[in-house]
Amino acid sequence: MPTANAPFVPPGSGWPEDPASPDTPVAHGAGEVVELAGSSPDLDELCARQSVCRACERLVEWREQVAVRRRRAFADEEYWGRPVAGWGDPEPHIMIVGLAPAAHGGNRTGRIFTGDRSGDWLFASLHRVGLAALPTSVRAGDGQRLIGARMAATVRCAPPDNKPTPLERTTCLPWLAREVAAVAASVRCIVCLGGFAWQGVWPALRQAGYGLPRPRPKFGHGAEVELAPPSGHARRDPVLLLGSYHPSQQNTFTGRVTEEMLDAVFVRARDYE
Ligand code: SF4
Repeated sequence: MPTANAPFVPPGSGWPEDPASPDTPVAHGAGEVVELAGSSPDLDELCARQSVCRACERLVEWREQVAVRRRRAFADEEYWGRPVAGWGDPEPHIMIVGLAPAAHGGNRTGRIFTGDRSGDWLFASLHRVGLAALPTSVRAGDGQRLIGARMAATVRCAPPDNKPTPLERTTCLPWLAREVAAVAASVRCIVCLGGFAWQGVWPALRQAGYGLPRPRPKFGHGAEVELAPPSGHARRDPVLLLGSYHPSQQNTFTGRVTEEMLDAVFVRARDYE
């Protein structure tokens, strides 16, 4: 008999690091994402609301389908099957932004960049430069912790073929914009992993009140742009936007991204004052 796999982990049912409870309000469309992101009283509640969102029909269907079918290697594991919320230090100096969770990575473990090859590379690098407590990030509740850093995705649900549609990006934007605004007081550097994250973070930064140069500078590994911090924050010095090639399997296999290249980006981010 096949196992009746659950399409998602019920909020507040005991999954380690689950930010939500059964009472967390659920967004069912783009308008409700705007409303619930804007009215979140704090970062914890914002992340809780992100983690139960059902605004994008196609992505909800896909993430839950993946959670039910599962990959053979993880057939005995329960899948998260929900959006993957921002995670890390609530007062970070560094904000790391990726595109979207992986179907069998974040969508399985419930934590961003956790349980896939890209995450293995990323966390090993963060640990080498002192931004992560452990060299690996395997599952929620494994003891991993970011040190002065936070991570979020521009789209919080795993998309088919890793390709969210423009509408899905726009629908998810208020979650990121609100999170970027909530941590802006402490952030000195924003690292974008890959060109899609570089593009995706731009409107979120604008909504969060950052002063952005025009035209938008080109993405590249080590690309740097200085941004004016949002008015009203104590920081007057520029905030650094830093580009990094994504540590995807394709990039790391081909040598387009090496350990040294990734470490150099995070050392630059760590040391930027
Ligand atoms: S991608 Fe974003 S807006 Fe769409 S369902 Fe997931 S969390 Fe909600």
